[in-house]
Amino acid sequence: MTEAELRGAGVAGYDLAVVGGTVILEQGAQRLDIAVADGRIAGLLPPGTAVSATRTVDATGLYVLPGLIDSHVHFRTPGLTGKENWAAGSRAAVAGGITTVIDMPNTRPPLFTPQDAHERNALIHGQSLVDYRFHAGVDPERPELIGKFGRVRRPLSRSSWPGTTPRPMSCVSRRRWRPSSGWPPRTPCSCSSTPRTTRSSPCWTAGRAPREATRTTNRAVRGAGRSWRSRGWWNSPVGTARPCTSCMCRAGRRSTCSARPAAGLPVTFEVTAHHLTFTAADTSALGTRLRLSPAIRDQADQDRLWQAVLNGEATTVGSDHAPHEQELKLLPVPDAPPGLPGVQELLTALHTGLRARRPDLTEEQVLGVVAQVLASGPARLFRLDDRKGRIAPGLDADLVVFDPHANWSMSAGLVQSHCGWSAYEGRAFTGRVEWTIRRGERVYRHRPQAPAQFGRATGEWLPGRRTDD
Ligand SMILES: [Zn+2]
Repeated sequence: MTEAELRGAGVAGYDLAVVGGTVILEQGAQRLDIAVADGRIAGLLPPGTAVSATRTVDATGLYVLPGLIDSHVHFRTPGLTGKENWAAGSRAAVAGGITTVIDMPNTRPPLFTPQDAHERNALIHGQSLVDYRFHAGVDPERPELIGKFGRVRRPLSRSSWPGTTPRPMSCVSRRRWRPSSGWPPRTPCSCSSTPRTTRSSPCWTAGRAPREATRTTNRAVRGAGRSWRSRGWWNSPVGTARPCTSCMCRAGRRSTCSARPAAGLPVTFEVTAHHLTFTAADTSALGTRLRLSPAIRDQADQDRLWQAVLNGEATTVGSDHAPHEQELKLLPVPDAPPGLPGVQELLTALHTGLRARRPDLTEEQVLGVVAQVLASGPARLFRLDDRKGRIAPGLDADLVVFDPHANWSMSAGLVQSHCGWSAYEGRAFTGRVEWTIRRGERVYRHRPQAPAQFGRATGEWLPGRRTDD
């Protein structure tokens, strides 16, 4: 569509033009200029089209990705803001090309109800550079509370994380999580293996966990499967969008990845960048700082996870951005808490790994995989795809201008997270975010030899889409 046609369609002018770049579309890469009006993509134009825009971003020689979605962050608000706060966490996000996050509920207090979500939004509003949504947890003592999300007029979250705190999900699913709990149909449900067995295990050495953690995850997947089936939602005539479970099988061997068919369910799973980057060999240098749940494992496990990313088994790659104070991470096992910051490094760690693993792929192919697992995949899974996840006219103008050839290394001075440290310090990266644009606003700009520039904290709470009635 030409500018004249767009104007004829009622678009009076453009707020922003992103010109000269190669745009990563779902159907492939294409040289296009992008016109933005009122926070949305107004048009994809042939390169060099004369457009008048208030601001222009020159992406010549660079790639333009859709704004990325990190569906697994712990921004620790409220109650744990000594580890992370929303302002710093969202700065780290946009510095890494993330424009939307879905925040985990294991805060103090946790998020179990719509009222909790409203209260959390009141704390966050005005501090966020990124758009956001909340995962809800299932209160093991009152699992029926989750049903409140199914009845509200304006749904607050369409995803949940049973057993967030303080009990593991298996307790809920096996004994308490009955159909009367009122789980909203077709709401994505996330389950996570829990550190309960691993924390008490004598097998811990320098942050490594025993195999029980994998089995815990598999039990959680099967538990969720039994719950779905008991309600008749599996294969129910509600349409093609069957209930799905987003299982965060973040580490593990073939047994974990194959839990999906074993459960007989449309289970999806997430892989984290940490598990794609580090192996047990790295614990000799990083020690308990590398302690994660599930734990970092061996090369064979990592190879299997890369295979899942490349062959499409993994629906999303998340950061599991879970910062802790560095002094706590330096405690001996088992006192060092599991979790690492990572929202800032997510894109570049994935890109660096893909380039190293698959030098046979073109840059367009590599960025196609990136856009799939960091944008369109999570957008569809969490039903954000009416606004996010792709570059297309009418969708939110969430864009990342990316230089795939930039070589750099992470350092403490570049860390935006409030925790002030990164397990990636000293690690060489290929590919760097130059600009991050969220709903047409320039929220991050990399500047050589100068501190990065950040935009306005005008990120919004994204309402869920009603699908269960
Ligand atoms: Zn997590």
